[in-house]
Amino acid sequence: MSVIAVRNIHKRFGNQDVLKGIDLSVAKGETVVLLGSSGSGKSTILRTLNLLDLPDEGDVFLHGNKLGQPRPDGTRRYREGELRSLRRRVGMVFQHFNLFPHLTVEENIMIGLRRVLNYSITQAREKARHHLHHVGLAEKALAFPDTLSGGQRQRVAIARALAMDPDVMLFDEATSALDPERVSEVLRTMRQLSQEGTTMVVVTHELGFAYNVADRVVFLHGGRILEQGTPTEILLHPTHAPTREFLHAHT
Ligand code: ADP
Ligand code: MG
Repeated sequence: MSVIAVRNIHKRFGNQDVLKGIDLSVAKGETVVLLGSSGSGKSTILRTLNLLDLPDEGDVFLHGNKLGQPRPDGTRRYREGELRSLRRRVGMVFQHFNLFPHLTVEENIMIGLRRVLNYSITQAREKARHHLHHVGLAEKALAFPDTLSGGQRQRVAIARALAMDPDVMLFDEATSALDPERVSEVLRTMRQLSQEGTTMVVVTHELGFAYNVADRVVFLHGGRILEQGTPTEILLHPTHAPTREFLHAHT
């Protein structure tokens, strides 16, 4: 059964059809890489998976359960509690990590555990340290974010998301804002998570990562899934011209 899935998602912004019927289902332990040129709808898909963007049509499923209640016009209504619990189960890492500058690294991780999961200070600190260790930053627990490199800050953001024990992790161009020499440390951390069996949906232009880490590559074009398959199928033997052009532009 899928951890998270969307079926027939349509999304419009103004008069622009951004998603035109997206079906995507992510199995437990699977790493799905979403590729597509800028504006093809990748971020909107991720934001729909945790209902930060509400679809105009279509359904979102968590562990096979359809979310929301039907309305007469065919759309669905989502309760606050349902949205909160969904977002707690879906970890998200963005291009721009928003760590609180006035809190230490471990406090940045503890805050969600304290406020959302009601951990005690001791429990929260222990869990924060565990996850910092996991991303190779145990020694930075008491540092402030502005003393870290961009790559280290992004790994803290990953640790912060992981600390909530999400069922799936979404990465939206997590390395795009980093200095080139910092990209590989973050990709290495993401690869490690994938190998440990973390369920992941990754938007990236790093084709090496897609080739080496993805279980499945999905190519998006104009708000539709144009083709999908194994990394070998999509990256080495694409069957559609837009996929070939995209790969050509990114290698
Ligand atoms: P990608 O992540 O693949 O670059 P996005 O999902 O961010 O693409 O955006 C797809 C299209 O939807 C773009 O044309 C973008 O301008 C538009 N779009 C995304 N979010 C909004 C929004 N909140 N309001 C209006 N248009 C949006
Ligand atoms: Mg995007």
